[in-house]
Amino acid sequence: MQNHQSVIVVGGGVAGSSIAWHIARRGESVTLVEARSIAAVASGASAGGVRQQGRDPREMPLAIAANKRWLTLEDELDADLHYYRNGHLVAYATEEQVAVGEASVEKQRQLGLEIEMVEGSALFELSPGLAPQFIAGSYTANDGHADPKITTQSFARAAERAGADIREGVEILDLVRDGDRIIGVRTRNETLFADHVVLATGAWTRELVQPLGIDLPITVHGLQMILTQPMPSLLKQVVGAADRPLSLKQLREGNYLIGGGWPGDIDMDSGQGTVRDESVQGSYQTASDVFPMVGKADIERAWVGMEAFCPDDVPIIANLPGYEGITVVAGFCGHGFALSPITGQLVSELVLDGTPSIPLDAFAADRFSDEQRDRVIDPSAG
Ligand SMILES: Cc1cc2nc3c(=O)[nH]c(=O)nc-3n(C[C@H](O)[C@H](O)[C@H](O)COP(=O)(O)OP(=O)(O)OC[C@H]3O[C@@H](n4cnc5c(N)ncnc54)[C@H](O)[C@@H]3O)c2cc1C
Repeated sequence: MQNHQSVIVVGGGVAGSSIAWHIARRGESVTLVEARSIAAVASGASAGGVRQQGRDPREMPLAIAANKRWLTLEDELDADLHYYRNGHLVAYATEEQVAVGEASVEKQRQLGLEIEMVEGSALFELSPGLAPQFIAGSYTANDGHADPKITTQSFARAAERAGADIREGVEILDLVRDGDRIIGVRTRNETLFADHVVLATGAWTRELVQPLGIDLPITVHGLQMILTQPMPSLLKQVVGAADRPLSLKQLREGNYLIGGGWPGDIDMDSGQGTVRDESVQGSYQTASDVFPMVGKADIERAWVGMEAFCPDDVPIIANLPGYEGITVVAGFCGHGFALSPITGQLVSELVLDGTPSIPLDAFAADRFSDEQRDRVIDPSAG
C-alpha cells in the first residue's frame, strides 16, 4: 500500500484548482496557495472556449480526453458551470481557405477528432446569423464553452469540500530545497513543507524556477476580451474565421463575448491588464463583419487577461528536470481552460502514481531548442 502524500499546489487558476481537486478527491493531503484570489488572473479573464478543433497534434489527445470529462463535470463539481456543448465553427470565405480547411479537417480526423465540413446552405442552417460572404466551415459539434471564473472557483470549492486547505492572499516567495529535492515553499510569514510542490503559477512561473538555475522560456502576453450588451438569442456555436483573429460566442444572458488574441498591455505586479483602443475597435469590427448582429450590440466592457505562452504553442506539464519533488504546469498559450479537467487528472496521476494515464512527454520542460527560445510569440495564432 502506498503511503499518503502531502502536496502543495501554488496558483489558484484553473490549472492549480483542478489539480487540487483531483488530488483531494483521492484522499491525499493538499494545500493550494494563491497570492491573489481564486481565478484572479488568466482564468478569470478567459473566453471560456472548450475547443478541440484546431489543436496542435501534441495537444489533441489531451483536448479530446478533456472534452469527455466536460460532459459530466457539472455533476462532478456539483455546480452550474454555464457549460454549453453547442459546437465550434470556423468559417471560410474563399475557395483557397476551404481547401486549407479540408486538409486540416482530414488531419484532425486522423488524430481521432469528430469534425466535419459544412458547405453552402447547410452552413446557414447551422448558424443563421453568419455573414453571407462565407461559403463553408469546419465544424466540431462536441465543442462548446463554459464560464471560466465559475469553473475555476468550482474546482477550488470541490477541492475544499474534499479536504483541501485553500489559502488565498498568500504569496510564495521562493522554493525550499534540500540538495536537489524541493521540500516546501516559503511565504512572507512561514515555511510550508510537503512531499511534492506543483507550480501552477502561470505568468510568474519563469521567475519562480529561475533560482534553481533553470530558464523556462515562458513569456507573458495580454489578451483582450469584449463583452457586449445582451441581445436576443441567435448564436449557438462558438465562431471563428480563417485568417482573422476571432472567437465569438453568445452567453446565457444574451451578451456576445468576443476574443481571438487581440493584444492588450499587462502589469506583472497587479496581474491585471489594460485595453488598447485599437484592439477594441479591431476586435469589435472583426466580430461584426463575421456575425453582423454583433454590430447592433453596444460594448458593455472590455478587459485584458495575462496569459503565459511557451514558444512552441503547447504548455509545460512536467516534473522539473534535475530536481525531485517539483512539477511545473504552466504556459497554456490560450488553451488552458478547455484542458483543465484533464490537466488536473494527469498531474494528480503524475504526482501521486508517477505515471500519467496519457503520456506527457511532449510537454517536457527541457524540450525547447535555441531557435524556439528566440521565437517571437503571436498570441492571436492559438
Ligand atoms: C483573454 C483570454 C482568453 C482565453 N480564452 C481561452 C479559451 O477560450 N479557451 C481556453 O481553453 N483557454 C483560454 N484562455 C487560456 C486559459 O484561460 C488559460 O490558459 C488558463 O486560465 C491558465 O490557467 P493557469 O491556472 O495556468 O493560470 P492563471 O489563471 O494565471 O493562474 C495562475 C495563478 O498563480 C498565482 N500565482 C502566481 N505566482 C504566485 C506565487 N508566487 N504565489 C502564489 N500564487 C501565485 C496567480 O495569482 C494566479 O492566480 C484564455 C486566456 C485569456 C487571458
